[in-house]
Amino acid sequence: MRTPVDKYKQILNANQILSSTLNLDELLRQVIKLATDVVEAETSSILLYDKDKDELVFNLALTEKESELKEVRLKLSEGIAGLVARERKPRIVNDIKEEPRWTQRTDDKIDFKTKSLLAVPLVYKGNLLGVVESVNKKEGKFTDEDVDVLEAFAAQAAVSIENARLFNNLEEEKDKIEAVFSQMSDGAIFFNSKGAKLFSNNQAERLLGSEYIEKSNVTEVFKEFKVEPSIEAILKSDKDFISVEFHRSENKTLYLSGGVSKILDENKNIQGFIIVFRDTTAEKKEELVKRNFLSLISHKLKTPLVTITGYGPLLLGDPKLDDFQKKAVSSIQKQGQHLANLVEKLLDYTMVESGPIVLKKEDADLFEIVKKSVSSLKPYIEQNSAEVFISEDVKSLPKIKIDKIKIESVIKNLLENGIKFNSGKDKKVEVKALQKNGFIGISMEDNGPGIPPEEREKIFNKFYQIEEFFTGQVEGAGLGLALTKQILEAHGGKIELESSMGKGSKFRFLLPEK
Ligand code: ADP
Repeated sequence: MRTPVDKYKQILNANQILSSTLNLDELLRQVIKLATDVVEAETSSILLYDKDKDELVFNLALTEKESELKEVRLKLSEGIAGLVARERKPRIVNDIKEEPRWTQRTDDKIDFKTKSLLAVPLVYKGNLLGVVESVNKKEGKFTDEDVDVLEAFAAQAAVSIENARLFNNLEEEKDKIEAVFSQMSDGAIFFNSKGAKLFSNNQAERLLGSEYIEKSNVTEVFKEFKVEPSIEAILKSDKDFISVEFHRSENKTLYLSGGVSKILDENKNIQGFIIVFRDTTAEKKEELVKRNFLSLISHKLKTPLVTITGYGPLLLGDPKLDDFQKKAVSSIQKQGQHLANLVEKLLDYTMVESGPIVLKKEDADLFEIVKKSVSSLKPYIEQNSAEVFISEDVKSLPKIKIDKIKIESVIKNLLENGIKFNSGKDKKVEVKALQKNGFIGISMEDNGPGIPPEEREKIFNKFYQIEEFFTGQVEGAGLGLALTKQILEAHGGKIELESSMGKGSKFRFLLPEK
């Protein structure tokens, strides 16, 4: 006969055994064996609670008895186990024949003869997990002491069962996620908030090569690539989703395009990131060919157009022209100018789409550039009966190192916009000098319709045009301001906008003095 101290030692020992496995079936077998030992019974069984069906499930595969059936299900209203589960209180039945609630069902299934039993509920954090039943006390009867010992054991077993279940659920979820990701046609890499790689799929390995995908840090994985925005910027960003582009120029050219999403836990703490990407090399190369082709054609078109628009005004001045000839030359001149504008837009497009702007900087005088811009827009200004006033202070602006041609296109674009969107009669644009905090620049103020506050940021996006102006704006493509901004930023400068609805808009651009 074991002393109570022996029994509690046995329970402590049991705890060690239980915490050594996370395999649920293996754990349940251990629980059955240990429960049998601690109360000195012939055998034990576990009935797990199925919350969805509100039933207890007796897994026959865990018993040593042969059976064709896999499990027996008991309603909570059935049998002693049902009662213990319902009341969450232990119960001793030392003479089963006297117990009207006893159900023969399980005994019949496994050909077993129950004489006495002790059943205790398995409860974890107030939730019912099931019932442990120890059957047939080897010597004598089940006692209150057996109840205490089995309850203490059941409390530990419940913790282990819950842990094993949680672990199995996690494993299942992980398997599911891995299965989904391995079948994705895009490459996917999970990494933690420090950039350590946690998991990648087959497609990522196929795209990046096994040598790189094996690296433990995401920066190392993409070592050969130019990443835009950089991995450091991605890790620091507070956005939930960031589009990302990768470009490898060495070895074999490879372009990858994709996005990075943050993985947050329920408390909105960052658990990590998932980066999903696909091979866009073919598309990128095609785009490049298209852009180069467009750029080439536009440059080639410019030469004959300069001749047409250059000779037009000269011919028009010839007094020998009769009325028909004058009309014809004037039409050639007008359409030639129109074509030249379209070609400019095409060039804008090729520039805006071709990534970082390359500058050819030289010493320049902003006043000269303003004058040149106004003179090349002269026909447009006259055609629209507009007036452009250049303030005296522009003349005294200091020399500056800039890409003259590009800054000229900035000025022309802002001037043209100031006239183009003004449907009023007295169209005016005032050009003034700016000089502050190491920056110099120009402001251009029109007396047009103004720009609604909610549009003031968006108009600098590519292809963006404000709806009401868009209708009938055949010449515009929504590229001018995007390009203007890109050119100024490439110089280390900026553009600002101030506008008053119904009164006009004032665009200010600033370039670093040195
Ligand atoms: P585009 O001139 O080809 O339409 P932009 O990028 O130059 O493209 O301008 C974008 C949009 O911003 C224009 O379509 C117009 O709606 C608005 N916008 C630009 N400049 C002005 C201005 N001076 N006054 C009113 N609206 C303007």
